[in-house]
Amino acid sequence: MRLSTLLDTVNQGGSGPWPTSSTATTNDQFDRMVADLIPCRSHDAELWFAERQADVEQAKALCRGCPLIEGCLAGAVERAEPWGVWGGQVFVGGVIVATKRGRGRPRKDASAA
Ligand code: SF4
Repeated sequence: MRLSTLLDTVNQGGSGPWPTSSTATTNDQFDRMVADLIPCRSHDAELWFAERQADVEQAKALCRGCPLIEGCLAGAVERAEPWGVWGGQVFVGGVIVATKRGRGRPRKDASAA
């Protein structure tokens, strides 16, 4: 479901006054519907900060179906996220990297040889 379709389904009270007694329920319903569309809110969030490469790839794949992917990635770049999968990309130390290296692996640069 696209986000614009979701927003069209939420009862916003038409042209009359905003509902008062059911506002909390409406907000809760909206939060649940949005969460269902955003993979990192509907799956175990630890996947987006996983160590195992297979888990990281799964998080990246789930991001590709997220309606917020472009804004999420732009925000992560702007904040220089230190860690995790954001907008379908892996961030390490504030920059996007092609693949995440596992802990304890030796560097591949000349000084390590
Ligand atoms: S693109 Fe961003 S908001 Fe969407 S699932 Fe990935 S990390 Fe979460």
